[in-house]
Amino acid sequence: MKRIAALGGGESGVGAAVLAKVKGLDIFLSDNSTISQEAKAVLEKYGIPYEEGGHSRERILNADEIIKSPGIPDTAPIVAEALNLGIPVISEIEFAGRYDRAKKICVTGSNGKTTTTSLIYYMLRNAGLNVGLAGNIGKSYAYQVATEDFDIYVLELSSFQLDGMYDFKADIAILLNITPDHLDRYGHNMQNYIKAKFRITRNMSGEDCFIFCDDDSVTVGHINEIVLRAKMLPFSQKHETAQGAFSDGEKITVRYEGEECVVRTDELSLQGRHNIYNSMAAAITGKIMNITNDVIRRSLATFENIEHRLEKVMSVRGVLYINDSKATNVNSTWYALECMKHPVVWIAGGTDKGNDYSEIEQLVREKVKALICLGKDNSKLHSFFGPIVPSITDASSAEEAVRKAYGLAEEGDVVLLSPCCASFDLFKNYEDRGRQFKQAVRAL
Ligand code: ADP
Repeated sequence: MKRIAALGGGESGVGAAVLAKVKGLDIFLSDNSTISQEAKAVLEKYGIPYEEGGHSRERILNADEIIKSPGIPDTAPIVAEALNLGIPVISEIEFAGRYDRAKKICVTGSNGKTTTTSLIYYMLRNAGLNVGLAGNIGKSYAYQVATEDFDIYVLELSSFQLDGMYDFKADIAILLNITPDHLDRYGHNMQNYIKAKFRITRNMSGEDCFIFCDDDSVTVGHINEIVLRAKMLPFSQKHETAQGAFSDGEKITVRYEGEECVVRTDELSLQGRHNIYNSMAAAITGKIMNITNDVIRRSLATFENIEHRLEKVMSVRGVLYINDSKATNVNSTWYALECMKHPVVWIAGGTDKGNDYSEIEQLVREKVKALICLGKDNSKLHSFFGPIVPSITDASSAEEAVRKAYGLAEEGDVVLLSPCCASFDLFKNYEDRGRQFKQAVRAL
């Protein structure tokens, strides 16, 4: 019997273990930290042996194949050792893909993955299709392959998941954009990160579709260097495209195999330039999937934004508070600032991932009247924005930041939490940061 070891007892590891068990493989799960009670309950229900608080080296290295959680880097000692011994190390997505006959729509990019994946899922549901949502969102893909029977999956894939993919093939692959992120995991080498993202196109044939941003020079630069057999469907806000989609700011025009669908941008429920890109990617997918223009239009117009992404919290004394806690890199904050139409009191800061703030310097000059730094070490923000922003102050909790913002903002202003940084210095994660922010706003 094939022996499988799953490393990591989180959502993906447990899902992979369940699938392995259901398929009659010899499975063992190991986590060097603690496993949650919910996860243990699932493992016990399926009779899956597991350990926590350390790795049984012998047992893991005796496996024929290792399924690794995307959170564990290749440099983790147990993984490095396995790789050295030539044991295949794959991701949960690769594993589940082997057992899944459904059509796979896969979304990756540095920013916009969750938004676009959710939007496509919403559209396919509205069209009455039997579709599942997985990847980085909700229940793991492997768990769903083990327990559900969908005709189609929409999968959000991070570069870490793509790293462990070899034979997996997407029927429709969407690459939204490539901007520097997670470079610490890629040897501070942008080329490695670009290659990881392009793994989404592996194994694609002429029947498959590749949707990408034609305005993204990094993406287009790499396309010019490789051979891709898939149908190429670009989207752009700069120029017209014969196939794919383009927007002149007033409307989106989607073209696919002789058909056209036009949607006015002011009808889109998700506002901002970045969301025009996301909506175009979703609309092209809709056309490929043969969804009617009416359903495409209605879906783009009625989709409700997900929490922590330019989420309008409420207005207090004429000041609108916006939670964009998910903006954990400079590029996503660029888009947030870009779509602000009123003076901004900006809350930023946290764990810096090697940020280069020059990308947003101009927008900050134009739009930001005050900056509140919400992090343990705010020195980099002070030195960069000190000469640019009229007022800078510090806060060490969401509540303090909101109180200070309340004092600084005048009627007609916007208070924007869009941190450019990870949240782990002061918060559990970006959701925790966003929720504490919203709570503080509601308590004003
Ligand atoms: P991801 O899942 O890739 O992290 P999200 O959809 O969760 O992306 O959005 C993350 C952040 O990036 C949010 O602050 C959002 O406003 C911003 N964003 C969304 N789409 C894009 C895009 N296409 N380009 C740049 N930024 C984006």
